[in-house]
Amino acid sequence: MIIQLKEEITQKELKSLNEVLDEMNIDHYPVRTQNGQYQICTPKAEFDIRNIGHLDGIVDVHRVSGKHKMVSHKWKIDRSIIDIGDDVKMGDGHFELMAGPCSIESEEQIINTVECLKNNGVRIMRGGVYKPRTSPYSFRGLGMDGLKLFYKTCSENGIKIITEVMEAGQIEAMMPYVDIFQVGARNAQNFNLLEALGEVDKPVLIKRGISGSIDELLFSAEYIFKNGNEKIILCERGIRTFETSYRNTLDLNAIPILKEKSHLPVIVDPSHGIGIRKHVYQMTLAAVASGCDGILIEIHKTPNSAATDGQQTIDFKEFSRLTEKIKKMREIL
Ligand code: PEP
Ligand code: MN
Repeated sequence: MIIQLKEEITQKELKSLNEVLDEMNIDHYPVRTQNGQYQICTPKAEFDIRNIGHLDGIVDVHRVSGKHKMVSHKWKIDRSIIDIGDDVKMGDGHFELMAGPCSIESEEQIINTVECLKNNGVRIMRGGVYKPRTSPYSFRGLGMDGLKLFYKTCSENGIKIITEVMEAGQIEAMMPYVDIFQVGARNAQNFNLLEALGEVDKPVLIKRGISGSIDELLFSAEYIFKNGNEKIILCERGIRTFETSYRNTLDLNAIPILKEKSHLPVIVDPSHGIGIRKHVYQMTLAAVASGCDGILIEIHKTPNSAATDGQQTIDFKEFSRLTEKIKKMREIL
């Protein structure tokens, strides 16, 4: 159950509500987000909602029987729209492409990618400066120096930035340069990081864990929401299965299911989803057809020389073909 409180609820009204909930033996947790104040209740047994609904200081009481509360579609019937600023939005019919290299490598690379994005009407650039790598001897990203270069070119060109944050301690320094914080698949259940991002007033894109279930992804989003940040985007990026013919199994079933269970926007990363360059184009179109609210894709001027994930990165020419096709497909859909 979610009890939505009035912004101007008094301490006295809050105290009476808590007393009623305690008397009814209902566990309750206060939540304050950028948009409102709530009491999340996890009752052990059936109860009469009218015992609460008449109390002062309450806007509404929503029965949310499932395990997920704040991220559930059951109480928030209107789909969430994530506003990234300057008319860049995701969710409820707003669709955005986010494209760029796996890793930020140089200023020249940022400049040529921004040019490609602008030519194709794309408003958000991706690029990692902190890279989670399986081997500690692989390229780990340019860190804050890379992020500052990334910001310089993007801000001059009206392009928004999405980049991965790997630990809570990085958030503060990254904050001025980032428009969307990405939580990578390996950190999908790093609850300390998720809670820290709950305190941030910027959108967070959370990727599904490498072997993460849909419920686990929703619980991870719940951590961010419960700690105050409602601006969450869910991302399907493929999961590990018994199949070894491709890097991951892109689970497009997840898109309608996540949209049914949650009010949050759902996007797809087809690059990590299949991990094979020549099939990314087709899988991107499949993802668009599945009803997602955006695409996160790896592109590079010369994919074969990319510092990371070149094998799944498409070049600018193919990306242009793809953006055209996506536009046509969305018109049909
Ligand atoms: C990435 O986006 O480059 C990345 C590391 O993704 P994931 O966390 O999905 O592996
Ligand atoms: Mn990558």
